[in-house]
Amino acid sequence: MDNHYDVIIIGTGAGGGTLAYHLAPSGKRILLLERGGYLPREKDNWESRAVFVESKYRAKETWYDKDGKPFYPGIQYYVGGNTKVYGAALLRFRKEDFGEVRHHGGISPAWPLSYEDFEPYYTKAEYLYHVHGQRGVDPTEGPASAPYRYPPVSHEPRIQELFDDFRRLGHHPFPLPLGILLDEAEGKPLHTSACVRCAAFDGFPCLVNGKADAQVICVDPALEHSNVELLTGALVERLETDPSGRVVTKVIVTRKGSVEEYSADIVVVACGAVNSAALLLRSANERHLAGLANSSDVVGRHYMRHNCSAFMAISKDPNPTVFQKTLALNDFYFRSEDWEYPLGEIQMLGKSDGEMLKGEAPGWAVWKPEFALDYLAEHSIDFWLQSEDLPHPDNRVTINPDREIVLSIQETNLEGHKRLTAKLKDTLSEIGCHDRLMHRSLYLGKDIPIGGTAHQAGTVRFGRDPETSALDVNCKAHDLDNLYVVDASFFVSIAAVNPSLTIMANALRVGDHLLERLGSAESRKSEGMENS
Ligand SMILES: Cc1cc2nc3c(=O)[nH]c(=O)nc-3n(C[C@H](O)[C@H](O)[C@H](O)COP(=O)(O)OP(=O)(O)OC[C@H]3O[C@@H](n4cnc5c(N)ncnc54)[C@H](O)[C@@H]3O)c2cc1C
Ligand code: SF4
Repeated sequence: MDNHYDVIIIGTGAGGGTLAYHLAPSGKRILLLERGGYLPREKDNWESRAVFVESKYRAKETWYDKDGKPFYPGIQYYVGGNTKVYGAALLRFRKEDFGEVRHHGGISPAWPLSYEDFEPYYTKAEYLYHVHGQRGVDPTEGPASAPYRYPPVSHEPRIQELFDDFRRLGHHPFPLPLGILLDEAEGKPLHTSACVRCAAFDGFPCLVNGKADAQVICVDPALEHSNVELLTGALVERLETDPSGRVVTKVIVTRKGSVEEYSADIVVVACGAVNSAALLLRSANERHLAGLANSSDVVGRHYMRHNCSAFMAISKDPNPTVFQKTLALNDFYFRSEDWEYPLGEIQMLGKSDGEMLKGEAPGWAVWKPEFALDYLAEHSIDFWLQSEDLPHPDNRVTINPDREIVLSIQETNLEGHKRLTAKLKDTLSEIGCHDRLMHRSLYLGKDIPIGGTAHQAGTVRFGRDPETSALDVNCKAHDLDNLYVVDASFFVSIAAVNPSLTIMANALRVGDHLLERLGSAESRKSEGMENS
């Protein structure tokens, strides 16, 4: 009986970590199973060479493409999941993203719930994750029931100049909403601030715990409750059901070289979109021949990841900005003056440096002095372009006979992204900002497109119809009574904004449903915003 819990949550990232935090005060016995450990705190957290060249914190794992060719996915396994290295750009989907949207490449389908259903949870997630931002500047943003808890992160002079130039051209740049534990005045961190406004924000772990990641914000506080336990190094291999196939009865774990079994009244899978689908597929049994919760045959399908590119605008003048990721532009989100379909979002990236570029440049370029990567980095302003890819049933996760992950992808809806790139070039030329725009392959690298798994979503989609979705609107499996999936898997479409705030908001939403189901809703409701 010691191994039986009220709730087991598998995975501690944006979805699992946030849910654990929300359920913790209920007093219910909760077990978190996380395959990784704590990300080591060490100087290398902030070293570009360790992070970008040596990929020190990336999982040493091989996945395969549809032709059986191995690749190295951009994924990290730690307490806090991929939020340990994320850029913490925490944006809401636009109101329209919840409806059907016509793209050049096809239809982005409607969600079974509306922006209004998510709005209160967006507000709570923003509050919980210390989002710094400003409402009312970006014309594409939906209504919000509360202001941001913190003011926007200030621009450094070069980015303020860019902001002013965009405005002068009639654009509507806005401060990028960021989840960060920063207290600043006049652009400088105060003595109370965890974040010191360094250059290592995007793609690095934070050495001083200044980033609002799922470990710092949710898992560690959840563990202060004596009813919550965490097992690290606990790889969930499969889920077993009772003979009826309706109830998950066993969670089979490998830990420290041994096999262990756990059970719970409610089992929540939150392994990230690829690994959650893989776990369900690996859990096939005679009642669930095509994989657990998969009578619809959608588990593993409709994988999405955004069409993304990173660009460096190289100018003769150096760009001394340290913390660069403070501006975004959505003026081409739905359309442009010369095109009727969505293009996407433009954001600043963290500042590049020579070591990062060495990590991305082809080997021959690194050794040629004319490529002067340090010089390029010092003179660059770095942009991130993000457009919507569409859910395609053949873009999917499957398992090979050795139970390894196979990811099949074909690109969708690329025209909008090409046009977004052209818009950035034109806009920068108009303001005389750069002499050259260069492609960069950062964490969703164009050179290895399949390995760009940072924004994975959609593989266990939710919906009202059990024939076309695996989860109901509470993210419970249609086919089972006690199985939930609470990570990026539930997405029906991915919009063109970063995914994590929607994952976090959804975890709080599903958390309310679970508290109701567990009979603890009343005690939780009386707790106000502080605990979200
Ligand atoms: C470099 C980088 C930058 C990013 N920047 C942004 C950004 O600025 N804004 C944004 O919104 N998003 C960003 N993202 C994406 C963001 O990190 C993810 O969308 C988010 O973390 C996904 O949350 P999740 O809960 O679905 O999965 P994850 O956070 O990946 O968590 C899944 C957890 O499950 C664990 N796990 C997996 N399989 C098992 C198993 N079988 N047994 C036990 N445990 C398991 C993993 O170790 C992990 O801890 C970025 C990602 C990367 C890599
Ligand atoms: S900018 Fe702040 S949050 Fe980011 S790594 Fe530096 S100190 Fe940490």
